[in-house]
Amino acid sequence: MAPAGIDESKYRKGIVTARRDVGEGLWIVRVRPRDPIAFRAGQYVTVGLQTEGKLVERPYTVASAPREDELEFFLELVSGGKLTPHLHHAGVGDEVYLRPAAKGRFLFDEASGHRNHFMVATVTGAAPFVSMIRSAAADAPYRVLVLHGASVSNEFGYAGELLETSRRRSWLEYVPSISRPWLEPGWKGERGRVEDVARKYIDAAGFRPGNTTAYACGNPQMIRNLEGILTRAGFARESIKEEMYWRE
Ligand SMILES: Cc1cc2nc3c(=O)[nH]c(=O)nc-3n(C[C@H](O)[C@H](O)[C@H](O)COP(=O)(O)OP(=O)(O)OC[C@H]3O[C@@H](n4cnc5c(N)ncnc54)[C@H](O)[C@@H]3O)c2cc1C
Repeated sequence: MAPAGIDESKYRKGIVTARRDVGEGLWIVRVRPRDPIAFRAGQYVTVGLQTEGKLVERPYTVASAPREDELEFFLELVSGGKLTPHLHHAGVGDEVYLRPAAKGRFLFDEASGHRNHFMVATVTGAAPFVSMIRSAAADAPYRVLVLHGASVSNEFGYAGELLETSRRRSWLEYVPSISRPWLEPGWKGERGRVEDVARKYIDAAGFRPGNTTAYACGNPQMIRNLEGILTRAGFARESIKEEMYWRE
């Protein structure tokens, strides 16, 4: 049943077909829309749930590739939030509401002509990059470096997939970095906030303002900090693409 006063024609029902819990308050779901929803890699779909008789909806970036017949989302529980505490209870077989028009301009920038693409994410901010990488051709004619930040390593969600893809695709490098290494003494990978290690990776990769598009997604503070670092390194505003998941 639609909640009272909800115009069903504006929505497409979706069924949760799979769920994977990845870390504290972090999970990945796959949703099969009743009819397909077209989107481009990097776009978001608005997801809603009926709670207390009302429909509460929020935008979520799609992590699946457009060719897949299900939508995949990487979700974070926001304590005290209006939607995620309810969404967190949704399991396989549960129904969600989906707006049928995907939106957003956080897309892979083909038009720039840049060979290098520097993608920086905090936790669930990896979703658009996962979609872009899943969509890319095996012999893509560019270089992609994904720098992915989280507090601890069980928050990355897609590290296994992205590391495996990077082994098979010479154009991809994936660098997970944890900001609380003292909680994980055995961690052998990069340490520090992504914005603090970004410059090191740009320089080591030979990424330059004139040949690189940078993308930042997730935590607004990280995005602002990274924007400052890239701007000081000479990046033009139009070569820095941003998707803030919330405003502070
Ligand atoms: C374009 C776009 C794409 C997005 N994609 C994703 C996605 O793929 N995965 C995902 O988990 N979220 C994503 N978000 C965030 C999502 O839309 C919601 O804002 C989030 O899930 C919180 O919803 P809520 O109703 O539980 O909390 P709300 O009641 O909306 O918010 C409560 C408070 O928490 C703040 N807040 C929102 N998100 C966070 C957060 N992650 N950490 C800390 N504070 C926060 C809000 O600004 C607000 O002050 C995206 C947002 C945008 C704008």
